[in-house]
Amino acid sequence: MRGEGKTVAGFLALARGKIDRLDARLLLQDISGLTHTRLIAEPQTALSPERWQTLASLLERRAAGEPLAYLLGHTEFRGRRFIVTPDVLIPRPETEELVELALEKFPLPACGHPLPFAGEGNTLPFSPFPLPRSMPPRCVDLGTGSGIIAISLKLECPQAEMQAVDASSTALAVAQENARQLGADIAFHHGSWFEPLAGQTFDLIVANPPYVAAGDPHLQLNGLPHEPQTALVAGADGLDCLRTIIADAPAHLNPGGWLLFEHGHDQGDAARHLLTAAGFEAVFTQTDLAGLDRISGGLKK
Ligand code: GLN
Repeated sequence: MRGEGKTVAGFLALARGKIDRLDARLLLQDISGLTHTRLIAEPQTALSPERWQTLASLLERRAAGEPLAYLLGHTEFRGRRFIVTPDVLIPRPETEELVELALEKFPLPACGHPLPFAGEGNTLPFSPFPLPRSMPPRCVDLGTGSGIIAISLKLECPQAEMQAVDASSTALAVAQENARQLGADIAFHHGSWFEPLAGQTFDLIVANPPYVAAGDPHLQLNGLPHEPQTALVAGADGLDCLRTIIADAPAHLNPGGWLLFEHGHDQGDAARHLLTAAGFEAVFTQTDLAGLDRISGGLKK
């Protein structure tokens, strides 16, 4: 350990070559409570034996492949801190784009999009159809997991009436705690997709469902074995959940309402086909920042 001892510099030296330097710094900041500036300015700062022990054990777990977000117990999404546990999928940057798109579809100035509220003749520039009429707009996030989509939408569009569903009660507990800590008023339901929403209709249905094909080698990589497989895997072709959601969505959408969802990079064609077959209009696929098909959606006329 080059004589650095149980100090900031000592831990960084211990971590070198074992884990990513950024991960080492984030573990240090989290456990020591020191700012990034202090870590740099005062590398000789001593770490208590307890903190050193904790850091050394987290270092080994990270080196063995456990995702950093689970080790820290939190991560960032759209600039907010969310609790994450192994009961929920770790937020991905692609999902921020789903939130962006959903905000575009909300016809309210409070969402940061200065569009007039629906009235006779008002139309969105990207759609030939009138805006949804219900006030406040009603939105549901299916398979909410840690709650990132529902909570971001509620906080960024406070006038929306937000609901969220998950089949996992442990995931729902995480989402509810995130909503409480971040001050987002959301009605949570336990159940599978639309099951707990009988008789309800929405202006926006949004989902990041499981969409990885069973047996996809990707499931063995990048920490995915540590994530809940029920949040990742959806049948032989990865489309099982999307088939259910797309087939059942029209009965739960108001006229002018959107269904928007995330999917695999090779599922754009299938997603648009399913949407069209279910009677959706204005069906589209949007690529993510990597240029891969990632989000599809359609409008209920
Ligand atoms: N994008 C994730 C991955 O490929 C999968 C997320 C999901 O199934 N909803 O790791």
